[in-house]
Amino acid sequence: MTDRVYNFGAGPAMLPEPVMRRIQEEWLDYRGMGVSIIEISHRADEFIAVLEEAKALFRQLTGLPANYRILFMHGGARMQFSALPLNLAGRSTTRKCLYTETGNFAKVAAQEAQKFCQVKTVISSADSGYDHIPDLPLELIDQDAAYLHITGNNTIFGTRWNSFPDGGQVPLIADMTSELLSRQIDYSRFGVVYAGLQKNLGPSGMAMVIIREDLLGCADKTTPTLLDFTQADKDNSLTNTTNTFAIYVIKLVLEWLKEQGGVTAIEKLNEAKAARLYQVIDNGNFYRGIAHPDHRSIMNVSFLLNNDVLTDKFLQQAEALGLYALKGYRSVGGVRASIYNPMPMAGVEKLAIFMEEFANGNS
Ligand SMILES: *Cc1c(COP(=O)(O)O)cnc(C)c1O
Repeated sequence: MTDRVYNFGAGPAMLPEPVMRRIQEEWLDYRGMGVSIIEISHRADEFIAVLEEAKALFRQLTGLPANYRILFMHGGARMQFSALPLNLAGRSTTRKCLYTETGNFAKVAAQEAQKFCQVKTVISSADSGYDHIPDLPLELIDQDAAYLHITGNNTIFGTRWNSFPDGGQVPLIADMTSELLSRQIDYSRFGVVYAGLQKNLGPSGMAMVIIREDLLGCADKTTPTLLDFTQADKDNSLTNTTNTFAIYVIKLVLEWLKEQGGVTAIEKLNEAKAARLYQVIDNGNFYRGIAHPDHRSIMNVSFLLNNDVLTDKFLQQAEALGLYALKGYRSVGGVRASIYNPMPMAGVEKLAIFMEEFANGNS
């Protein structure tokens, strides 16, 4: 496909080309059935096999402990912003839930939770434009809280938690939408890990929820059926018609990831990709990184140029070279290169060279 560009969009984001080709090949006739995968029942054996394989592959790739369940739920990551307090706030007699304000989605998660529980924001980096992840010592974590929520990778500002806080008795919940499967994670540290699919895993509109078994069964009675983790677990994520296409794509992406050598291999590649771009940013003062160097994301590299005119020129020239969707988030401006798992080193290298040449030509 000679006319495909390098897509640096934050999400929906690029998918591996072999996955896209496979979808195309199987589109009209799934495995000799004479129908597409999206034309069969979500309860058909052939689809159930896809669902089970996706879960098995995820377990295999992550070493997920046996006492964790995998759920596929509607509504992307933000539907989980409501589902979490509805399912878990009841664990605390005062319905206290702890939030960490490290970026835009982190803030929106807390705002949504406020409708259903008593939110306490334990740390915030709002004052410095979300350029870092504040320390979170155990003393700040009220042990009577229902849970502690963090955003593993802050997609807009390009920061991430390098190591995860210790919640004590309080289960740790992480929104990993923009970094699931990009680095090795000890899942046993978490009560819930969830992610919208459209950044590292597949199409938009659904989320994967990984939940420790003992956190099931405490949803509020008023929780909508389709947001209830326990119901989803009981029904194997098939309470109603699921997005069969999305789950089929996830399965293909997981197979692709396994072929790449799994999470260990992709993490090493992701680190090399990010390091290449940060190297250009740090070399001179033409570009200004948004994230503090100690908290830099390896998925979203956000940086500024000196002024808007220069930024527009950068984006225009980049696009002409086939470097697509580099514009920073609207409230931040500048440039954001999202370099999720499927972005090859060649795309990053092409961007890095362009950045060097642009800096040389415009300094
Ligand atoms: C993109 C993103 C979201 C929003 O995902 P939706 O599926 O659109 O709801 C939430 N959290 C993080 C960290 C994200 O990057």
